[in-house]
Amino acid sequence: MKTINLEGKEVFPSKIICIGRNYVDHIKELGNEIPEEPVIFIKPNSSIAADIQCSEPDEIHFEGEISIVVLSGEIAGVGFGLDLTKRKLQSRLKAMGLPWERSKAFDGAAVFSEFAAFEGQVSDLRLELHINDRLVQQGGCKLMMYKPAEIIAEVKSFLSLEDGDLIMTGTPAGVGPLQAGDRFNGKIFEKDTLVVEGSWVVQ
Ligand code: ZN
Repeated sequence: MKTINLEGKEVFPSKIICIGRNYVDHIKELGNEIPEEPVIFIKPNSSIAADIQCSEPDEIHFEGEISIVVLSGEIAGVGFGLDLTKRKLQSRLKAMGLPWERSKAFDGAAVFSEFAAFEGQVSDLRLELHINDRLVQQGGCKLMMYKPAEIIAEVKSFLSLEDGDLIMTGTPAGVGPLQAGDRFNGKIFEKDTLVVEGSWVVQ
């Protein structure tokens, strides 16, 4: 079973709950419709990986996301997450009205920084993703259609959050394909204070 790291302690997420289409600018970027309720899907524990791998024949897109670890049903910590997506396959599955798992739940599809304990103002959280020192994605809770508290309430309305479960809160505009050798640096800020960051080289 895969684990993530919260303040130096290993935590076991039974699942990762992902929110799709939560930033209007990214919805427009993919030509999707604005949803009337949160778009929710799940990645399994087995999708968690420490490294970013792009060895698949299918092109894989990065989606940088503010990610939350839940304990006792509440936000316990925050980290930077990458929701890796086989975009062409996802588009094909969407067009056929089929589930997305083949494009979103594969081994290695979820990569996280360490998680930092967080008791601050969730509405002040924002992310930056730099690739090769260039800022390619930025966004934050203020721009989300569904804020973390609403997401948690919605999720709890139909499934149980176990201790250690993760929530990926959706991606802002700027997604794109992985390229081997690219240097990723994902940062989570509370206003202008760095809370946590992760760095990877695409393999
Ligand atoms: Zn995503």
